[in-house]
Amino acid sequence: MEKKNTIGHALSVHLRGAKLLREVSPRFFVVMTLHSVADALLPYVTVFFSAQILKELALLRREEVLWRWVAAGVLCTGFFAVLRAFLYQRKETLTDDLYGRKEILFARKMFSMDYADMDKQENHDLRSQIRQNENWSGWGLMRVPEVYEAGLKSMIGILSGIALTVSLFTTPVPKTAGRLTVLNSPVFILVLAAIMVLVSLLAGVCNVKAISYWSSAAEDATFGNRLFSFFGFIGLQKGRGTDIRMYNQQNLVSAYWDKNRAFGADGVLAKLARGPLGMFSGLGTGITVVITGSVYVFTCLKAWAGAFDVGSVTQYVGAATAMTGSIFELTGLFGILKTNTGYLDTTFQFLDIPNAMYQGSLTTEKRSDRQYEVEFKNVSFKYPGAETWALKDVSMKFQVGRRLAIVGENGSGKTTFIKLLCRLYDPQEGQILLNGIDIRKYNYRDYMDIFSIVFQDFQLISQPLGSNVAGSASYDEAKVRSALLDAGFGSRLETMPDGLNTQLYKDFTENGVEISGGEAQKIAIARALYKNAPFVILDEPTAALDPVAEAEIYSKFDEIAGDKTAIYISHRLSSCKFCDEIIVFHEGRIVQRGSHDELLEDETGKYHELWTAQAQYYTE
Ligand code: ADP
Repeated sequence: MEKKNTIGHALSVHLRGAKLLREVSPRFFVVMTLHSVADALLPYVTVFFSAQILKELALLRREEVLWRWVAAGVLCTGFFAVLRAFLYQRKETLTDDLYGRKEILFARKMFSMDYADMDKQENHDLRSQIRQNENWSGWGLMRVPEVYEAGLKSMIGILSGIALTVSLFTTPVPKTAGRLTVLNSPVFILVLAAIMVLVSLLAGVCNVKAISYWSSAAEDATFGNRLFSFFGFIGLQKGRGTDIRMYNQQNLVSAYWDKNRAFGADGVLAKLARGPLGMFSGLGTGITVVITGSVYVFTCLKAWAGAFDVGSVTQYVGAATAMTGSIFELTGLFGILKTNTGYLDTTFQFLDIPNAMYQGSLTTEKRSDRQYEVEFKNVSFKYPGAETWALKDVSMKFQVGRRLAIVGENGSGKTTFIKLLCRLYDPQEGQILLNGIDIRKYNYRDYMDIFSIVFQDFQLISQPLGSNVAGSASYDEAKVRSALLDAGFGSRLETMPDGLNTQLYKDFTENGVEISGGEAQKIAIARALYKNAPFVILDEPTAALDPVAEAEIYSKFDEIAGDKTAIYISHRLSSCKFCDEIIVFHEGRIVQRGSHDELLEDETGKYHELWTAQAQYYTE
């Protein structure tokens, strides 16, 4: 980990950041480079022409040449100023755009990482930390263009400054100048150079120190920002409206708000700004003036001794002043570079989360007879970081084309079982086999193709109804319609204003349609039917339906499922009575299996207990 503090590491993470940003916005760095060149050169162009004009005015007084210098000066400065202004607008728009575009990098990572990692709280925390770092003061990826711009501008500035001041050192004081001929000694030049280097280093140290205080405030600022995100938008969250009115939930959290002192006038940042941060920052700026001062003294002495004219004085003094600005920018840059490296390390820690899940290459043969046999063999599984087994020693075989119900109390392992079946997680012990081969050996996409699952927490998207069902913008309309009909959405479809093109929800359009929980479930079921996979699994997706509607869907589903293998998960036992086989889960284990009648016969069994507990709610 030692490398983390080196300048090499700082440069390499920033370079990597730049490459990533260039990937999402290829034109950004081109425009920024051109703008930086125009911006950095402009002051030196002005200094150069002013010096030539002054020289003509004060000394040579050649009218012809003077006019030519004036015309060239106006044209060149005008050109650079217009170019800079034009590029500035382009750069600003592209920067705003980049703020949004860089999210693609994070979204892409979220989409592609192993589900098990996506599900981990620590990874969500890491992502949220990156977002907070960026929100409270722009640390992270978006500092990379800033570093690049400042670096480029200051380098161009320093080089231009050197080019315009070389003759200050090389033009000797005439021999007639008496004692002042001492200025011709190389010692003077060395002393001046030493002062410039030392002062720059000192200013750099002050700047690095000043900027490092930002990191020390990070924790408070991040927390303050989180509070702000919560309080600033709490009123906008539709789902909270009722509870806030009923139970004054806002009061529960307002205590935190009162303690939020991150950004106020007496906050951590303000205190730092009044204290060490402000002091070091001021010192950094202040001491660079020593450079300008030394150049002034040296220039004036040489001019006094007759080494050059007033025009050159303007040139040297102007160039030195501009160069001091560049030196200051360069030293400040080291501070930003050093501090931002830590933030970029966090960013890459997230972007580099490896996809550790083994990806096999076997293809699942596309069988028209749908004879896919899946078997669990002594499977045990613990969630990452959990102490207890969510599933323990589970063994079972799916009978092709049959209806299987999985029942059990909340937390008994039903959903976990499905998550393992579709390889969102791999078990720590035992094996899951498809047609006798470990499912890890199959190509994951291929393997997923044999399942249509409706999860409890299914999500539809603010897109047209048809696209939601088909999972793509172009689809077979007749097939989508038939899936919606089978899922019981037929009569509602007729009232949809634009039929299959009706936008769901109002996120993107006024004309969007808000649908009820039950309607959403029917659409989600239609989506599973449209996929037409050999296995259909309903994991309590009917929770928002009343028991009658649920029973209706399940029995109808039996008909729709046809030759598919269907698995139903429900804690409402009455919905699953019709299944060929019922498996009862309890505390992560399979405790009973059989038909409804068989299971009910065992009066000491879990099924009987659950059934009698629920039966009182329903009259048969
Ligand atoms: P069911 O679907 O039967 O209600 P689950 O399969 O969701 O039960 O949960 C089984 C056990 O695993 C429960 O104890 C639950 O708390 C735990 N569990 C479920 N999901 C996670 C998770 N993402 N991380 C840690 N533990 C989990």
